[in-house]
Order: sequence, then structure tokens, then C-alpha cells
Amino acid sequence: MTSGLEAQLRAVSLRVTRPRLAVLAALRDHPHVDTDTVIRLVRTDLPTVSHQAVYDVLRALTDAGLVRRIQPAGATARYEARVADNHHHVVCRSCGVIADIDCAVGDAPCLTASDDHGFVIDEAEVVYWGTCPDCATERTAQRSASSEGST
Ligand SMILES: [Zn+2]
Ligand SMILES: [Zn+2]
Repeated sequence: MTSGLEAQLRAVSLRVTRPRLAVLAALRDHPHVDTDTVIRLVRTDLPTVSHQAVYDVLRALTDAGLVRRIQPAGATARYEARVADNHHHVVCRSCGVIADIDCAVGDAPCLTASDDHGFVIDEAEVVYWGTCPDCATERTAQRSASSEGST
């Protein structure tokens, strides 16, 4: 399926290189991963690729709009290959897992600010915070265990 990725690179006038293809493929299969994880994933394909090469590729792909960089408060930067639909994210306060949430009102609705203060707005970032199902289950289990202990 790398042919689709090659076309993506050509569409933004980026030279097709193996590290670029590997990073795009890694992000397509593993959304919202941090730089260290990208390096680990890319190295399963290209064992000799350097940290710096992956950093450079991430920057080039982000600048070209093929990759979106998100950085929830207090978290390390994450990257994803799902771009241009202005989707939102929900972040678990406990474990930091991130999931995609489609825009509630359609395609990029939040760019229509109620008052833009004269700014030309090109991106809206909405982050929902909460507790993921796994952490919620764990918390409930802990709570019932401790209440059993106190009775
Ligand atoms: Zn969690
Ligand atoms: Zn996302």
C-alpha cells in the first residue's frame, strides 16, 4: 500500500524517500504516537535510521500538511496522519491515551468563531479531557476493593 503514500508525498512536492514512506506508514497504522514510538516503528522497517532523520521527516511532513502534530497540555507531542478534517481529540487524564472524535457539526465547523477578533483563523483545536474506559474500569475495581476492605 506504499503507492498511495508515494502519491501523497508527490502531491505536496516532497521527494519520495524510504524514511518518509516508513514514517507515513507508521502513523497511518498507529495514530497519536510520540516521536520515540515513531522511531521504534520506523526501525522495524529501517533498522539503521537515525533519530535525527526521523525528527527531520516528521518536521517536513508536518510542514507539508501530511502529518498533524498535537500536543495536549502536559503531554509530549504526538503525530497522526489523519489531517485536514479538523477532527478533535479526547485525552485520558490517567493514562494519556488519545482517541479521535469527529467534528460535532461537520467539516471544520469550529473555524467559524463566534467572534474572530479580526484574526484569519486556519485551525481549531478542541481537546476533550476525561477518563478512558480502561482507567474507569480500573478505578471502579479499586474503589470496590477498598470499600470491601473498610467494612
Ligand atoms: Zn486511561
Ligand atoms: Zn487524531
